[in-house]
Amino acid sequence: MTTTPDPDMKPGDEAEPGTPGAGEDLCETCGGSGKLADGKQCPECEGTGRVMRGIGGG
Ligand SMILES: [Zn+2]
Repeated sequence: MTTTPDPDMKPGDEAEPGTPGAGEDLCETCGGSGKLADGKQCPECEGTGRVMRGIGGG
């Protein structure tokens, strides 16, 4: 267990890129647009509109 954030992970990511069983999904915070309602970059997906979701996990 580490408290150091992985630089490859975004706040909204549930799994590291390339993690078996995980896949990209639309960011629920910005709806996949990468921007918030006020035009600012979405902090969850960092403007990509997509986050990594754990699939098949608990
Ligand atoms: Zn987002």
